[in-house]
Amino acid sequence: MVKVLVCDRVDEEGIKILKENGFEVDVKLNLTREQLKEEVKNYDALIVRSRTKVTREVLEAAGNLKLIVRAGVGLDNIDLEVARERNIAVTNTPEAISSSVAELTVGLMLAVARGIAEADRTVKGGGWSKEKFVGLGLKGKTLGIIGLGRIGCEVARVGKALGMKVIFYDVAPRDEVAKEIGCEPAGSLEELLASSDIISIHVPLTAETRHLIGERELSKVKPGAILINTARGAIVDEKALYWALKSGRLGGAGLDVYEEEPPKNIDLVRLPNVVCTPHIGAQTREAQREASLIAARKIVEFFRGEG
Ligand code: NAD
Repeated sequence: MVKVLVCDRVDEEGIKILKENGFEVDVKLNLTREQLKEEVKNYDALIVRSRTKVTREVLEAAGNLKLIVRAGVGLDNIDLEVARERNIAVTNTPEAISSSVAELTVGLMLAVARGIAEADRTVKGGGWSKEKFVGLGLKGKTLGIIGLGRIGCEVARVGKALGMKVIFYDVAPRDEVAKEIGCEPAGSLEELLASSDIISIHVPLTAETRHLIGERELSKVKPGAILINTARGAIVDEKALYWALKSGRLGGAGLDVYEEEPPKNIDLVRLPNVVCTPHIGAQTREAQREASLIAARKIVEFFRGEG
C-alpha cells in the first residue's frame, strides 16, 4: 500500500480522495526537523504547504520517497536540486490558488490607497478625522505588474476593470496574454518603477529575484508610489523598503509576505502607511479545498502511472 504523509494542514476532501483510492494517509502536523527526518523514511509521498521545510537532510533520510506535492505555489521550501539528484518528483497546485492571491493583492492595493486599516482603527477608537483620510484614486492611474504569470494576469485584469493603465515587466515573452488583457510591456524594470503609481510583485523567489527590489530600485520609483508584495518577502530588501517609506519616497506598502515570517522588522510593519497581512494569500476556503483536491488527484495519477 502506498503511504502518504501530510505534514501541513490541508482540506479533508483531498485526504478522503486518497483513502478512497486505497492510499494509507497519516496526518502529522507541526513535526520538528528531527521528527520529520525520522518519519519520512516510512512514506512514499509527502504533502506539504509552506511551513514544512523539505531540506537536503530530510531528503537524504528519505528511503522510499517518490513524490512531494506542495499544496500551493512556491517551491522555495523544497530543496529541488537534491530532490532531482535522488529522483524524487516534485509538483505543486498553482492553478488552485491564483485568484485568492490576486483578490488579496487588490484588497491590499485598495486598503493602502484609501487608508482603510488606519481609518478602521480611528473609528473604533472613537475618532472621526475625515481630513486625515484623503486617499489616492485608482482610476486612470498606472499599475505596474512585476511578473505577468498566473497571479499577475489576474491582478492585471482587475486593474483594467478599475480603469487603470496596466504595464508589466517579465523575463519571459508574455505578448499574447498581455494583448488579451490589454496591458503593455514596460521597456525595463526601471521604466516600470519610474512610471507606476502602484507596483505589484508576482515573481517567484529565486537566486535572481532575491532583493530584486532594493535601495537602488526604490530610488527610481515615482515619488509617492505604493508597493504591494504578495509574492515572497525576500524579493524586497526590507531595510531599503523601510527607509523608502519613512522618507516618503514610497507613499505606502501592502505586505502579505516578509523576509522572515512572522516578521522581525517590527519598525517596518508598524509604519502607519503599511498594511500587513500574515501570509494569507491562499487562505480562502475555496483555494484550500481546491489545492487539497488537486494535490490528491496528482498523487493518485502519479502512483497509478507507476503501478
Ligand atoms: P507564475 O510562475 O505563474 O508567474 C511568475 C511570473 O514571473 C512568470 O511569468 C515568470 O516569467 C516571471 N518571472 C520569473 N522571474 C522573473 C524575473 N526575474 N523578472 C521578471 N519576471 C520574472 O507564478 P504565480 O502562480 O503567478 O505565482 C507568483 C508567486 O506568488 C509565487 O511564486 C509565489 O512566490 C507567490 N505566491 C504567494 C502566495 C501567498 O500566499 N501570498 C500564494 C501563492 C503564490
